Amino acid sequence: MEYKKNQRRMSKCLECGDKIRYGRKDKKFCCEDCKTKYFNAIAKDGRAYKRRILNMLSKNYDLLDTLIKAGYEEIDLADIIAMGFAPDLVTFSHRTRRHDECRCFDIKYRKSETRLYEISKIQNVSLPLQTAIENENK
Ligand SMILES: [Zn+2]
Repeated sequence: MEYKKNQRRMSKCLECGDKIRYGRKDKKFCCEDCKTKYFNAIAKDGRAYKRRILNMLSKNYDLLDTLIKAGYEEIDLADIIAMGFAPDLVTFSHRTRRHDECRCFDIKYRKSETRLYEISKIQNVSLPLQTAIENENK
């Protein structure tokens, strides 16, 4: 009986690892401070992840933009990947039978297994984006 009682008290704080000595059986933190720290850390990880993705998208955009400005409409996928392009990161993609159309913000391109081509700035911003911008400015 005594043994079981101790087992029940073996649960540990998710933040500091200290044993939780009192409170409900399903308590996960030893104190409010640990609870706050724990969830702040999760939120921070989320923000760091988001920032990493945005940085990668931004890098993709800069590479594509540089190509357009230099007059290129296509490039070998391997070459642009070597420059730091992350091919799986897009802000929009549409798959048709023949190719993928991808977008990185206002730059669009088609992607095959080995090449990016028809890289160009979108001249007329599509309606969904226009609506999004209008809503943003409200
Ligand atoms: Zn704790």
